[in-house]
Amino acid sequence: MNTAAHQTALLQEALSQALGPSALISKADTALYTTDVYSGNEAPGLVVRPTTQAQVADAVRISTRAGWAITQRGGGMSYTGGYLPQRSETVMLDLSALNRIVSIDEDDLVITVEAGVTWQQIWEALTPRGLRLPFFGTFSGSRATVGGGLSNGALFMGTARYGSAADIVVGIDVVDGRGRCIRTGQAAFDNGRPGFRQYGPDLTGLFVHDAGALGVKTQASLKMMPMPEAAEYGSLAFATQQEAIEALSPSVAVASVRRCIVLIPATTQRSLDSATLMKDIGRLSNVIRSQSNLIEGASRKDQNGRRGATVRRGQRPHLTFCLCRALSRRRARRL
Ligand SMILES: Cc1cc2nc3c(=O)[nH]c(=O)nc-3n(C[C@H](O)[C@H](O)[C@H](O)COP(=O)(O)OP(=O)(O)OC[C@H]3O[C@@H](n4cnc5c(N)ncnc54)[C@H](O)[C@@H]3O)c2cc1C
Repeated sequence: MNTAAHQTALLQEALSQALGPSALISKADTALYTTDVYSGNEAPGLVVRPTTQAQVADAVRISTRAGWAITQRGGGMSYTGGYLPQRSETVMLDLSALNRIVSIDEDDLVITVEAGVTWQQIWEALTPRGLRLPFFGTFSGSRATVGGGLSNGALFMGTARYGSAADIVVGIDVVDGRGRCIRTGQAAFDNGRPGFRQYGPDLTGLFVHDAGALGVKTQASLKMMPMPEAAEYGSLAFATQQEAIEALSPSVAVASVRRCIVLIPATTQRSLDSATLMKDIGRLSNVIRSQSNLIEGASRKDQNGRRGATVRRGQRPHLTFCLCRALSRRRARRL
């Protein structure tokens, strides 16, 4: 056995003893971890799938002591190379098994989740309670995780009014490069509960949008809000893209506008053209094992054989918005 293979075997043995053999992904199943949605790179030497924060801490401590690099993969739905290894002496942490909702505090309007929880999981847990996140999560949220979103600057649904993932997080648990656990925000104090992140210096902000470079997020607390009592949707057509974009800011200034998106039919149509779509789906299929709904939805055709039934060539740019009437907290409690 050469030196590199010997070092890998030693580290594998140490990780297996500390975390249990089932936490290690076998070599045969590591193809998934060599690519993100856009590109591929060096395969990680080892892939570990921890199920607890303690296991994350052990894996990081053991691996970095051995001189190996760490990368983290949440849902694997990014396309910026953030979790792809730069060298084979890399342990990739697959955080998808940190997938528990820890608590839902309806008084303080804060939900605490493990980092591998998806945005869809949160939506499904909160909707029956008449609650939601101000920023709902990414369009990829059936797979993309809270940890990935907080690391990667996630924005989209709800962003026009409430900001991005960074604007709704009030505290994070992070494991640093030596395997030490750091808790940020108000919950870090004795008997503290997550509520405000600026309780002292804002350490939460330090770890947001870091692409995972400053530590492994294992848990996060996010603000919640009541679902609106009523919602109506509308769409305004504009002659040019510039006019539609200029109408965005004044529209969001209207208190009842909760969501606002400019849709450019020509751009959307280009993305839905079969060559581009099939190329994108080819890449996606590398990283998604059982995402049949997404692929089916993306490639579904209308009765005229047109892909993406809502988009037609030649349509003008649109500003699409959602108007909501807020439900008072007192009224929400009575329901
Ligand atoms: C169809 C599709 C739709 C998309 N829609 C949107 C959208 O609406 N808005 C948007 O912003 N993006 C969107 N994206 C991009 C991507 O999905 C987002 O960046 C998403 O936040 C990635 O989350 P993830 O859990 O898949 O993270 P990953 O892709 O697994 O990782 C992203 C980065 O975060 C790091 N990371 C992951 N988990 C952790 C952790 N627990 N601790 C520390 N670092 C971690 C990784 O190392 C990597 O650098 C879309 C992508 C696709 C393919």
